[in-house]
Amino acid sequence: MPVFTDPSTFPAFHELPSASSLPSSSSLTSSSSTSPPADWFLLAQIKENMTITKTTLVVRDRAGADFAVTFDDGDHRGLLGSGNGSGEGAAPRFRKGHTLVVPRAARTDREGEGKKAVVRVPAGRSGGVRVVPGSLEQVLELGRVLVGMEEESGLAKKCAACGGPEAEGRPLMRCTGCGAAAYCSKACQVRGWGELGHKSNCKVVKSIREIWP
Ligand SMILES: [Zn+2]
Ligand SMILES: [Zn+2]
Repeated sequence: MPVFTDPSTFPAFHELPSASSLPSSSSLTSSSSTSPPADWFLLAQIKENMTITKTTLVVRDRAGADFAVTFDDGDHRGLLGSGNGSGEGAAPRFRKGHTLVVPRAARTDREGEGKKAVVRVPAGRSGGVRVVPGSLEQVLELGRVLVGMEEESGLAKKCAACGGPEAEGRPLMRCTGCGAAAYCSKACQVRGWGELGHKSNCKVVKSIREIWP
């Protein structure tokens, strides 16, 4: 799992490489080890879906900058969301308030007075774009928590509600939604889900773990 506070892995819009400085998309392969950093991701919260003909989203990055993300092709396979099995249909889910994840995003400066730079997803690359069903703030916070858990040998050893340790012979019960949150009792699970907000965080955690296994 990547470190969510690392700006070289999760650059803000103004820190993205310029599209003209990158090799063409055809020479970028996922197994390429020659172009450091190995991978970077633009994280940005969807503010508005401005699609008329070409898919165009207005988003906001972690630094608070607003800009547009456009898609050069209609391949939205990656945007169907993953693994929720609830059959929500085939429409891309660019929901307002959710977080767009664009691997290897680049900034395209546009010619002309007053024209703002955009992020263009080239044809054939939109399959790698994901949407996390939560705010950017949630993604960063939960990503940080997950990385912390990973450093402590992968799984939570403390109850996510009361903070109590795993007792001998009584393993913590793991949330079946995300597989990450763990609880010492049914009562703690109920409290974690409602009062402590896991209801909203669970699907975000699940999505983060699927994108960065
Ligand atoms: Zn507990
Ligand atoms: Zn969960």
